[in-house]
Amino acid sequence: MQTTTRTMPAHKHVALVAHDSCKPELLKWVQENKEKLQRHFLYATGTTGRILSNETGLAIKSLISGPMGGDQQLGALISEKEIDIMIFFWDPLEAVPHDPDVKALLRIANVWNIPVAMNKSSADFLFASSLLEKEVDIQVPDYEKYLEDRV
Ligand code: PGA
Repeated sequence: MQTTTRTMPAHKHVALVAHDSCKPELLKWVQENKEKLQRHFLYATGTTGRILSNETGLAIKSLISGPMGGDQQLGALISEKEIDIMIFFWDPLEAVPHDPDVKALLRIANVWNIPVAMNKSSADFLFASSLLEKEVDIQVPDYEKYLEDRV
């Protein structure tokens, strides 16, 4: 796959998602990182977003709830290069009904090479990065070339 450069803006578009058992942990992390988070554009799946905005007062664009299609909606935004970072606290010890959507979301985040944190320590490392508040070049699939090669 040929790649091209995509420049992430200094003010990132950050998606926040947590499975039910992980919601308290994500809420705590968001509270701890509120000052940093409010300098970026925030998105979340439905229930996560409602809880986080109610509890922290942060402006968050809520998508559809995960089991109702929110993971796929977020995956579509990632494919359209609308999301720069995903913080997704998923539960490794409990099955969810929308497991295929979770897998698809993690896959598409990898296709488009965005930084993903799946637990608190990764989220801490990511948010401690000096790149968080700078423009950053990343390599992404060159979609035009991809089409040319196929047609
Ligand atoms: P929710 O979705 O925020 O609506 O609970 C999260 C998920 O399960 O992917």
